Amino acid sequence: MPFTDLGLSEKVLAAVKATGYTEPTPIQAEAIPHVMAARDLIGIAQTGTGKTAGFVLPMLSRLERGRARARMPRTLILEPTRELAAQVEESFTVYGQNHRLTVALLIGGVSFDEQNKKLDRGADVLIATPGRLLDHFERGRLLLTGVEILVIDEADRMLDMGFIPDIERICKLVPFTRQTLFFSATMPPEIQKLTGQFLQNPVRVEVQQQNKAAETVAQSLASAPSTPKEKRAVLRHQINAAQNLANAIVFCNRKRDVTILERSLKRHGFNVGALHGDLDQHQRMATLARFRNGEITLLVASDVAARGLDIPAVSHVFNFDVPTHAEDYIHRIGRTGRAGRSGSAITLATPNERKYVASIEKLLGRPIPAADDAAPEPAPAAEPVAPEAKPAKSRRRRGERKKASAAEAPPQEAAPKSASAKSKAPVKRKPGKHKADQEVVGLGDHVPNFLLRPVRRANRVADGSD
Ligand code: AMP
Repeated sequence: MPFTDLGLSEKVLAAVKATGYTEPTPIQAEAIPHVMAARDLIGIAQTGTGKTAGFVLPMLSRLERGRARARMPRTLILEPTRELAAQVEESFTVYGQNHRLTVALLIGGVSFDEQNKKLDRGADVLIATPGRLLDHFERGRLLLTGVEILVIDEADRMLDMGFIPDIERICKLVPFTRQTLFFSATMPPEIQKLTGQFLQNPVRVEVQQQNKAAETVAQSLASAPSTPKEKRAVLRHQINAAQNLANAIVFCNRKRDVTILERSLKRHGFNVGALHGDLDQHQRMATLARFRNGEITLLVASDVAARGLDIPAVSHVFNFDVPTHAEDYIHRIGRTGRAGRSGSAITLATPNERKYVASIEKLLGRPIPAADDAAPEPAPAAEPVAPEAKPAKSRRRRGERKKASAAEAPPQEAAPKSASAKSKAPVKRKPGKHKADQEVVGLGDHVPNFLLRPVRRANRVADGSD
């Protein structure tokens, strides 16, 4: 079905043409005619399906009639994270290039003043995270009685983040007569209750079953030891062994581990950035921009920070930790294999994490195959003693030596197979960025065998100092 059959306005069709999209994605083809007909809608779709354009395009068409009034937005889009909100704003810029609509973004981490000015001028489209929206409302800067269309995006993530009471409150502040568009990747009971309460006779559009992982994603599972340091070695091995890696997101379950892992990968010479909820808005957007334009190859991220990011060309996803909620696994691997492209998702699993793997496999309805090449780098135990006393430069150099001596390393507890004979170039390293990489430090590439003997060391705080 062509875009021209969906009932969209000429201006919107011209913008779509300019983006180069040839035909609507299934969610767009199914949802857009209903949105244009002013129906309430429940869209069950993951990110990567084109659902953003599924609501932005018809909203733009419908907004062509009428004008915004000061402090009274005409449409309201609720997003669970600042990044998602910023991306939806970007979609309005791209698809709304032939419109003169005012879009205001109300997200935390940026000053109220700028946002107030936009509200005072009158916003056709208000994109907000629930907390910041209610802050503005309580300060009397905003009236929600003019809202004609309400979009609740990524509702299941709103639930995970504890936003449901805020959503309920906001639903009661907007007019009863508004149109509501509701999107969620999954429909747990709490979400179903919400739709029953606030949507009127909605049409339901579902593009993928909730347990259906993208068919284009090659998934694999690598065994990893429980100690963080050894687990990081397995990750590095998997990154280096990955075929055709252009860029990757590395997911951790905890914010703290995002920081630790980023630091560690940096020390090992990888070109890496981090994204988690504690970074301020400016830092997050800057990191994202660098990842998008290829300056950063690896992005270490937590689920919340990475949810719904619009990064179309991710070739690989690594799960440094197995997600504790099986549905998060689907979301994570959905970051690759988008829009028909192939992608790979490699999950590291310690013995303790096997129970989470089991529930993911249950959701998928099939086992995740073992990684072909699950052997980590040479054993950390085989590293020379006292590396923590050395500066990062020397440690990185040592990391290179470890690779050179892989054949000599003792077998690994976590490695089901010995190191592969395949030698794949570690394409992810920053070329020429680290002077230390060229310098001969200590014994250079030669490591005498006595230095490779396993040594017993006192436990260190897992602070990424490897
Ligand atoms: P979303 O699911 O909204 O995050 O969109 C995922 C990606 O699909 C984004 O990078 C969009 O630019 C892209 N996209 C959206 N609609 C289409 C389309 N009709 N054809 C090709 N790509 C699209």
